[in-house]
Formats: sequence, C-alpha cells, structure tokens
Amino acid sequence: MRRRVTVSLLTGVIALLVIIGSLGFVKFVHDSLWAQSVDAILEVTAQGQNALDTFFQKDLDTLDLFVDELREQSPDNKQRVEEKIQLFNQNDDGAVYLIVNLQTGEVHRNDGSQGLVITQDQMEEVKSHAERGVLRPFLDEVTGVNMTGVYELFTFADGTPALARKSRPVQQVADQFSLSFYENSGFSYVVDTDGAIVVRSSHRNSNRTIANIYDLVEHEGNDAELVASFRAALDGERRGVALFTYLDEEYVFCYTPLESTDGWDLVSVVPNNVVMKQTNDVLQSTFFLCAAIVAGLLIILIVFWQTSKEHHKQIEHIAYYDKLTGLYSPAKFELEGNRVLKNLRERASRTHDGIMIGYLNIADFKLINDVDGYQRGDEVLCEVSSLLKTSCEPDGFAGRMTADHFVVLVPYHNEDEAIARIRAVVEQIHTIVAAGKRLVMHVGLCSSSEAPEVQNVNELADRARIAKTEGRHSGQTVCVFNNSMRETMLRRAELERAMEGALERGEFFPLIQPKFSPDGTRVLGGEALVRWKRSDEDIVRPDEFIPLFEQNGFIVKLDEFMFESVCRMLRTRLDAGLPVVPISVNISRLHLHRSSFVSTYVSIKNRYCIPDELAELELTESMVLEDLDNAIAVINELRTAGFRCSIDDFGSGQSSLNALKDLPADVLKLDRAFLLERDHSEKEEVVVRTVIDMARKLHMRTVMEGVETEDQLAFIKTTTCDMIQGFVFSRPISQDEFNHLLDANAEPSL
Ligand code: C2E
Ligand code: CA
Ligand code: CA
Repeated sequence: MRRRVTVSLLTGVIALLVIIGSLGFVKFVHDSLWAQSVDAILEVTAQGQNALDTFFQKDLDTLDLFVDELREQSPDNKQRVEEKIQLFNQNDDGAVYLIVNLQTGEVHRNDGSQGLVITQDQMEEVKSHAERGVLRPFLDEVTGVNMTGVYELFTFADGTPALARKSRPVQQVADQFSLSFYENSGFSYVVDTDGAIVVRSSHRNSNRTIANIYDLVEHEGNDAELVASFRAALDGERRGVALFTYLDEEYVFCYTPLESTDGWDLVSVVPNNVVMKQTNDVLQSTFFLCAAIVAGLLIILIVFWQTSKEHHKQIEHIAYYDKLTGLYSPAKFELEGNRVLKNLRERASRTHDGIMIGYLNIADFKLINDVDGYQRGDEVLCEVSSLLKTSCEPDGFAGRMTADHFVVLVPYHNEDEAIARIRAVVEQIHTIVAAGKRLVMHVGLCSSSEAPEVQNVNELADRARIAKTEGRHSGQTVCVFNNSMRETMLRRAELERAMEGALERGEFFPLIQPKFSPDGTRVLGGEALVRWKRSDEDIVRPDEFIPLFEQNGFIVKLDEFMFESVCRMLRTRLDAGLPVVPISVNISRLHLHRSSFVSTYVSIKNRYCIPDELAELELTESMVLEDLDNAIAVINELRTAGFRCSIDDFGSGQSSLNALKDLPADVLKLDRAFLLERDHSEKEEVVVRTVIDMARKLHMRTVMEGVETEDQLAFIKTTTCDMIQGFVFSRPISQDEFNHLLDANAEPSL
C-alpha cells in the first residue's frame, strides 16, 4: 500500500515537473520565436527601404545630370530643350521628364504634350518648395496616371527659373517594396511625416481604404502612451517595432525611415497571429508532447495501480485463504476474529451478545490418509470445511489451522444456541464415512463471556483447544472450556515462566527406579525419572510438566540434563570401582527431528567416558511409529555409537506386532496397560506371553513396567520376561538409595 502511494506521488511529481518544464519551455520558445520573427520582418522592411532609397536616389542623380545639361541651355531654344528631354528619356521605361519654365508657365514633356502651361499660382507654389526632393503622388495632368517622382529647381543659362521633374507611375514605386511577409499576409506602406499613406505596396492586403497609418493605430484598443511613442519614433526617423490592435486583431508594425525622402517612413504591418503561427505550431506540438507524456504517465500509473491491486489481492488470497479448503487461514481468522471481538468488547456490536470459538480436530485423520490415501484425505478435509463454512455463515466464519485442525467463530445471543449450532455441524460431519468409519470430531469450545479479559481471538482458540484435549481425555466429543481448565492453564503459564531458572538453580533432579530380575533378588538396571523440587511447594510430578515442556521445546534441554546427571553418577561409581548397571533415560519425541541429537548425546557420553552398553535411551513406541523409517535410522546410529536403545510404553498405543520385527532395539518395555487389561481377560495373558516370546526371538530383552501386585508378579514370573520395573519391588528412589541397592545386591553389569 505504502509503495503504491509512493509511486503515485512520484508520478504526480514527475507529471507536475513535466507541466512546469513545458510551461517554462513554451514561454521561452514563445518569446524567442516571436523576437526572431519580428527581427526577420524588420530585416525585410529594411531591405524594402534600401530598394526604395536607391530607386529615388538613382532618379535624383539622373535628374541632376539632366539639370546640369539644361543649365547651359536657353529656354528659348526649345528644340534643344526637347532634344535633351528625349535624350534622357531613352531606355527609361514609364518615366516622364518634364520641364516647367517658371517665368512663362510653359511646360515641356518627353511625351510631346506641348502647349501645356501652368498657372501663376501653381508656379508660386512650386517655387516655394525646397530645391530638390521627392514628390508626393499626384495625378498626371496629361495621362491621368497616378505618379510620383523627383524634382529639382534650376535656372537656364539666361537666368530663367525652371523646374525639372522626373516622374513615374506610383505602381512602379510600389513594386519596389512589394515586400513578402509570411506568404503575403503582411503589407507595407510608405507614410509621410503626418502618417498619411503615400504609397502602398501592391499586395492585396495593402489596398485597404486607409488613408493614414495612425487611423490603424489610434483608437481605444491601444494604449495611448504606446501610440504616442510610435508617433515619436516615426517623427524622429527611428527604426523599430510596435504591437497594436486593429479590429480585434493584433498587428506587428515594423518601421524604418526612408533616407532619400523628407521624413517619410516605410512601415510593414503583419498580423500578429501570422507571426505567431510558427510559434504557435511549436507551442502546439510542445503542448501535445507534454499532454502525451502526462497521459503516458497516467496510463503507467493506472496500469501500475491495477497490477499492484491484482498482485495485492493474490498475495492477500494466498495469505488469507487456505489453499485446499478455501477456509480462512490462521492469519485471516485472527484478523477477522479480533475485529469481531473488539466490536464486542467495545459494545459496538448490536447483532449479538458474545462469540463462541470452536476448535475442531478430526479423530484418527492419519488413519484415513493411511487407509484411503491422501486424495481421500484431502476430500474429507474439503467436505468437513464446506459443512463448517455453511454452518457458520453468514454471521460467523471458519478457518483451518493446520492439517485436520479447524477453528470456527459463531456469534450468539445465548451460549446454548451456539453450542447447539456447533453440535449440529458435528452431527452432520458424522455422516461422512472415511477409512470405513463415520467421521468423529473432537471439539473444544470457549466463549467470549468465559474469558472477559481476553482481547485476542487466538487466546480464545487456545482455550478451546485445551478444552478439546481435555474432552478427548474424558471422552466428550464437545467439551466447553471451564474453570478447572483455566486453572490448569494458569498453572502451565506459571511453570513455563519458572522452568529456565529452575534448571539453573538445580531444582530438577533424577530419581532412579530399579529394574529387577523377576525373582526380585537382583537389580539389573535402572530408569532415571525426572522430578522438580520447587522451593515453595512439594515435588512436581513429570506428568504435570513433561507435556508442557514437549510443547514449548524445553524438554530437549531437560533430557540432556538428565542424561548428563546419569553419566556423572555412573562415572563416580566407575571411578570408585563400584559395580554399575545400565541406567536408561527418556528421550522426548522432539529429539528425533533434531539433526544434532545423536552427536550431542555421543559427546556427553564421551565426556564422561561411559562404556558402551551402560547408557540406555528409551524411545516411546508412539514416537517411533510416527516416523518409523527415521526412527530406525536414528536407533541404528545410536547403537553404532554404543548406546542401548529401548522401546518404551510398548502396547500403550496402536502398537503393531508387525513393526516390532523391523525395530533394531535392544530392549522392549511392555506398558502397564497389558497388566491392567489382563485382569479382565485370560486372552490378554496370551497376548503378553506372545509379545515377550516374540521379543526374545528377535533378541530383545523385555521389561515389564508397572507391576504393582503380587498377583501381577506371579503372572509375569510364568513368562520369560527378563526384568520387572514396578512398585511391587521399588518406587523410583533417590540416587543414594539406588547406590545402596547396587552396593548390596546388584550383580556385575550385563
Ligand atoms: P515412563 O517413561 O513410562 O516412566 C515410568 C513411569 O511409571 C514413572 O512415572 C514411574 O514412576 C511409573 N511407575 C513405575 N512403576 C509403577 C507402578 O508399579 N505403578 C504405577 N502406577 N506407576 C509406576 P513418572 O516418574 O511419573 O514419569 C511419568 C512419565 O514422565 C514417564 O513415563 C516418562 O514418559 C516421563 N518422564 C519422566 N522423566 C522424564 C525425563 O527425564 N524425560 C522425558 N522425556 N520424559 C520423562
Ligand atoms: Ca520410560
Ligand atoms: Ca514406560
């Protein structure tokens, strides 16, 4: 989840950076492209100005030459004057040469329109002009064509004042600066000092009916100050650029003075949107690129979210649902259970008053796997799961803890209702047949009201499991957690808390129970049995703490301690040259799964230099049968290392005589269950006798455990049993007492 937020934030930041970067880029591109475009317009305008200036200058120069010729002539020699005109007019297409005698008003033209005379007023006006210059456009008095040109005032040889003029159609001039901007979208004007348009370039767009350049500029849309500075620039013969709006459109005005004229300027006008078009194209592609990047990032983000959500869902499913049955996993059960429990504790739940947690376990599930195969085993698990699920839903739920262990959570208003509901599903499960039998469930229950202090649903499940184990021992299918179980639980917690310290303080010690010859005369061996002397109470018996230590693993340390105690005892006697017998110690099932087991015991045995055959290890029948192959391998290894191995509690569980022949053990210890059952049936005696005989044939010694009565003793004596370990001869006794026994009546070790 955190990763997804980080990625989203990162993508957001990148997108933002892209946008900000693009905006900065766009601004930069905009400004520099615009400046570049305007520079180009100015450049083209300057070229136009150059062309015009050269054009006028050339005409002025030829007029100069023309005038020089005329100065030497007399105005009366008309033929001569005509000749001069014709001479200059050659090869000058469209030009009109004209001379006006400013005394008579007589006019000479190259196109031969003699007889023209100008009025006195007109003459006065001409005289008032500067000596030479460029003419504003005028309508040709003869041809009616709009003309412009240059003029010069001079005097003939006889002192007669005159004017020489060289004019051409305005069109010819206009052609000189038909500047091309952006595919003719721009246009140019030559304006005089008042802004009046003198000549327009021959472009379509220039031929608007605007008479004065200031008409384009001076209106509301434009800043008055800007207009004033534009006027000043034109007046001051400066070159420059200005931006104005006309009819809602922006125009760039580029202006440059015409040097050959008297204060005229060339002004190019280009719509700003045309100037901006190129810029806008770049901007547009930048915008699209930016949008594409942001969209790309967005898509990546969406895809990322989608896949990570999927992934999360998958992971969640793996973590939260049991693969085989689809029930809640332990983690999910805890999560959901705690949620329900929290609501309940905070009284937020209005739908129920409490919750019942059930811990369920299929009886003899291993048998189903063994008899019907694993596939059927899986099927049974699924059938049970689906019944549990439907019976819990919709208000409760079920989970699978391990193999054939299940948990259920059932909300209730009334505890009995919940118990009945669970009993009902157990009855339904009972209809499933596997391994030739109807399925039996062991069920333990614990309700939230039984444990008001508990805040974690797993603790309730633990109590339900304790109740289940308790029920199993007492033969109840459904067993509800009660007060005495609660005390046991507290007691176990207390012992667990104390165990480590107790071992360090030496509170654990061995008692030895002797193994006698059947006639009771000789001690042939002994078994070390652990006791715990707590400082403030009586001796704690192993039945109370061994199962606990097997659960929490402490038994491994304790067994090693017991073995070392026995080795030390044997070593003391050996060093003193006193007789010794093999003494066995009990090995918990946990050792069998530890790779260091054999090496640890060998190293202890070697440390005390215990001769082979004196150290005996008791492995219970049930732990051996649990994983027969491994057990056989370990036993072989132990025997090779010089240990004796015995099978303890033989006959207490589902012992199979068949397995006996495969066991490479030295000693078989028959469980006292054989003796108890013997009381009921003569047939059992046959069984005991058969087991003992069979062990003998397999070269195993036999020990009858738990012989208490003379009657039992008498029976054992009729068999070929090798040793007897039971109260009838001796309870477990202290090491000192055992040593005395050995000193008194033991025979040398076997
Ligand atoms: P176990 O290995 O079968 O030990 C024999 C148990 O039978 C001993 O109980 C012994 O006191 C008891 N017993 C002996 N003769 C008679 C008899 O005639 N009648 C009756 N009713 N009982 C008799 P204890 O010492 O209470 O030990 C109980 C169990 O605790 C042992 O059963 C063994 O499984 C376990 N245990 C004891 N010490 C250790 C140990 O150091 N390590 C491990 N892993 N388990 C131990
Ligand atoms: Ca034993
Ligand atoms: Ca035993």
